[in-house]
Amino acid sequence: MTGTVWFVGAGPGDPELITVKGRSLIERAGAILFAGSLVNAAATRWAPPGCTIADSKDMTLAQMAAWLIEQARQHTTVIRLQTGDPALYGALIEVVQPLDAAGVPVRVVPGVSSAMASAAAAVESFTLPEVTQSVIFTRVEGRTPMPEGESLAELARHHCTLCIFLSITLLHKVEAGLRAAGWAEDAPMLVVHKASWPGEEQIVRGTLADIRQRCRDAKIVSQAMVIASPTLGARQWPELVKSKLYDPTFTHRFRRASEAAPAPAPEFLPTQPAPL
Ligand code: SAH
Repeated sequence: MTGTVWFVGAGPGDPELITVKGRSLIERAGAILFAGSLVNAAATRWAPPGCTIADSKDMTLAQMAAWLIEQARQHTTVIRLQTGDPALYGALIEVVQPLDAAGVPVRVVPGVSSAMASAAAAVESFTLPEVTQSVIFTRVEGRTPMPEGESLAELARHHCTLCIFLSITLLHKVEAGLRAAGWAEDAPMLVVHKASWPGEEQIVRGTLADIRQRCRDAKIVSQAMVIASPTLGARQWPELVKSKLYDPTFTHRFRRASEAAPAPAPEFLPTQPAPL
């Protein structure tokens, strides 16, 4: 018999942004392995007395897997606490494979990604009607090579929202990618350092032309989300195309139109279910 290893998204930094499920698992964990450099140690504040808690910062992936397997032989609930959501840049599969090989059951609890916490910090929306309806989570090439077709220059051609992880020290590459894709020098950009960390969050706004200097001035060199998006700053726009969902002339499953519609576009015919 062996316990289950739960990969739990700890959220972006604010200990209150872990999910209720993640917190309840921590409350009954026999052992927790957390990512020291990124997960606020406060996230372990709900661990029960006697829980074995270790920091993975000096471990290799093989050592992490060995530690988790060892703990799963002794405890019903073992947790690998990861920053943000475990599905993004978290080496999830590399650690799950040896657990599978050892016959240890694995479950994953999602978390609030730093991309979402960065949008929240700055009161920005990644999607706006008729501006962009798509978001790309990416990074620029560091030690990990980018697969073919995924250079920023190629992805940025979509002119949608780009959330660029792991790239704050490579802003020159971010800029080069955006320029190669034809983004204007005055295209708005946003950098959020330590999004949601109580008392430590920093928001830097700028443009393609000056964001690097602004980050240098703010001394931001780590733990930052770089966002390029045609939606940035929309809070100040005088004219906004309103979402169809809240349009008074638009009927959907939960609400009848309160005003007569002009000529509805075919995809918004009242008999159709609303694209929620
Ligand atoms: N799984 C994590 C990402 C891990 S990769 C998630 O879903 O958020 C680490 C990168 O995430 C950092 O280089 C940085 O780009 C970003 N990051 C993590 N925490 C952050 C935070 N609180 N604020 C801004 N960016 C953060």
